[in-house]
Amino acid sequence: MSRPYAEVIGDPIAHSKSPLIHRFWLDRLKIEADYRATHVAADALGVYFDERRRDRDWRGCNITVPHKEAALMHVPDPGGIRQTIGAINTVFRDETGELAGTNTDAAGFWSPISALDLRDKPVAVVGAGGAARAVLFALARVGVGEVTILNRTPLKGAGLLAGFGLKGKVLPLDGPLPPAALLVNASTLGMTGQPPLHLDLGPLPDDAIVYDIVYSPLQTGLLQDADARGLDTIDGLEMLIGQAALAFELFFDAEPPRQHDDELRELLAR
Ligand code: NAP
Repeated sequence: MSRPYAEVIGDPIAHSKSPLIHRFWLDRLKIEADYRATHVAADALGVYFDERRRDRDWRGCNITVPHKEAALMHVPDPGGIRQTIGAINTVFRDETGELAGTNTDAAGFWSPISALDLRDKPVAVVGAGGAARAVLFALARVGVGEVTILNRTPLKGAGLLAGFGLKGKVLPLDGPLPPAALLVNASTLGMTGQPPLHLDLGPLPDDAIVYDIVYSPLQTGLLQDADARGLDTIDGLEMLIGQAALAFELFFDAEPPRQHDDELRELLAR
């Protein structure tokens, strides 16, 4: 007997933590459905969506590297994501059964800091890739103050500032940090297998928050440095769980049981 399912697609895909998260919630809610990890190569993306569109058990998918931009060519974009974040991480069926693409990374990033008042406050963001786009989209919506982007390729940062209508400047990775209320690492630096991120946190005020969206390892070098300086920190699992929660609702029409987050974090940190 067939049963509903959703999945995460990417190339490679074995490392994805999405199945652990969604299965944990399905299990807690006793929903008879599955969530899989499916390898899809770039040249198979069109065929993949054609097949799944016809599969009535398929509730949708999360999309990871390298398909977040290319997927926009294969599914409708009712929210106009192409013109804003420029990448989708979730495809679901709307109430008519038609596919729709969306991006839950921006809201997932925002959820652990939604209680902060960052309006007109200076912020700093490391990175100018796909994740940085979601971060800057969220920051632009709340009307933060001056934004300093630090990136290996400064030109990419300048394009993002202009694209999101943000005021600020772009510095190389060794540029001095501004006195930012929030520092976000949205680059791959500090991730397992990638070079470390070395920043002098000295210019940050004592009440600054340091948010690293890298989740492997969980306690990155940046977060260790911030801890040592006595700054508040937020790790990448917060965003990972936040973006998954929004996708889960779209797939399974049920709110994930977030009261079990501590147990879920333990499972993911293993
Ligand atoms: P991406 O589009 O490939 O962007 C990578 C960024 O890192 C770019 O700014 C790039 O600089 C920089 N970079 C890469 N290698 C570098 C190096 N050797 N030296 C200096 N800079 C380097 O990747 P992404 O999709 O934005 O992902 C970035 C990170 O965010 C990853 O660790 C990913 O796992 C994490 N992430 C986490 C979540 C979550 O839910 N927690 C969600 C999405 C992504 P250039 O512009 O100069 O190339």
